[in-house]
Amino acid sequence: MSFASRMHRVVASPTLRVAADADRLRRQGVDVVDLGAGEPDFATPDHVKAAAHAALDANFTKYTPSAGVMELREAVAHRYKVDYGVDFKPEEVIITAGAKQALYNAAMVLFGPGDEVITHGPFWPSIGDQIKLADATPVIVQTHMEDGFTIHADPIINAITPKTKGILINSPCNPTGALVSEAEMAKIADAAKAKGLWVIVDFTYEKLIYEPVPHNLIKVLFDRMREKTVICSAASKAYAMTGWRCGWAIAPKDVIAQCNVLQGHATSNINSITQKAGIAALTGPQDGVTAMLNEYRKRRDAVHGWLTSDPRIVCVKPGGAFYLFPYVAGLLSPNGLRSSGEFCEALLKDVAVAVTPGEGFDAPGYFRLSYATSIERLKEGADRIKTFVQALEASGRI
Ligand code: PLP
Repeated sequence: MSFASRMHRVVASPTLRVAADADRLRRQGVDVVDLGAGEPDFATPDHVKAAAHAALDANFTKYTPSAGVMELREAVAHRYKVDYGVDFKPEEVIITAGAKQALYNAAMVLFGPGDEVITHGPFWPSIGDQIKLADATPVIVQTHMEDGFTIHADPIINAITPKTKGILINSPCNPTGALVSEAEMAKIADAAKAKGLWVIVDFTYEKLIYEPVPHNLIKVLFDRMREKTVICSAASKAYAMTGWRCGWAIAPKDVIAQCNVLQGHATSNINSITQKAGIAALTGPQDGVTAMLNEYRKRRDAVHGWLTSDPRIVCVKPGGAFYLFPYVAGLLSPNGLRSSGEFCEALLKDVAVAVTPGEGFDAPGYFRLSYATSIERLKEGADRIKTFVQALEASGRI
């Protein structure tokens, strides 16, 4: 069959593939420890669910403006005013089906053939593929495990060419958990402003930062180059609302207007009931966010300790998001498991632990483990991974 050429440039999301494999085993009755999923295991907070029930009861079930109801766009502005001290108007916000659509809109509206967009690797696969779907070219600047996958400004600035149209920063980063510091963000912003480039920040994990490090990236950008700044984020991870599909982009009003044209032809508004839930999430009590963060921190520390008690598993302790990104190249060999992809396949087959191979993040030799699951399941998963590694060594296949 012949499909449009753009479809040859992209691949199916590897995280969704792992979920499908794990699901198949589960349906066969296998007790799978699923550490593949990139979503909170917590329930959506009760006051958010109550707002959705009320919306349904009030028959709030019709089309809304494609960019979202004004009250929700205002709620986004309210949240960022409280959290970051920045001011913007509802016309500078569009409500999208998750951060994913916010990023997709931005790529389609801002980039095109011949454009280069610089981002940092290892990276969440949709970032690169969305840029390709916009007919532009992602330029990847690698970060390194040896310095905690820290996102530095200089290599990003050095990658700028006459074709560069934008820079996309994901902080906290999926899969590495690394953050960009405010100082490095400022350097990137100054360079971008000098060259007239867009800066897009994927802020999806903005509420999942474990140490009290300053991370007011929106203020850093607004102070320097507000006219070329796009912030993409969502209720998905912060409020345990992945399935609701509530995200947003914050950008100059002309950019938002273009995103609205695109979205108006593609999907129109997000679900009307979700919009009411989103208002409750953004304007209601925020203590649930902190409670979840504290629980994730406990899990991160525990599972990091369990895994790295085996010196063959090398792993940075991440500063944000909810993933570990262990390096297992030392466990691979031409006579045994030849790649981290094969490692993950064998891990699922032999001990029923689902994790995502690093190849999906342009990082062979690694795998991604999500600790957005209960501490008991994490302990079980870590024990099984260690048993698997011991068996691998005993078999002489390393
Ligand atoms: N950006 C990153 C880095 C992500 O990891 C994800 C989801 O996993 C998204 C964006 C998309 O989030 P949403 O579910 O809100 O579309």
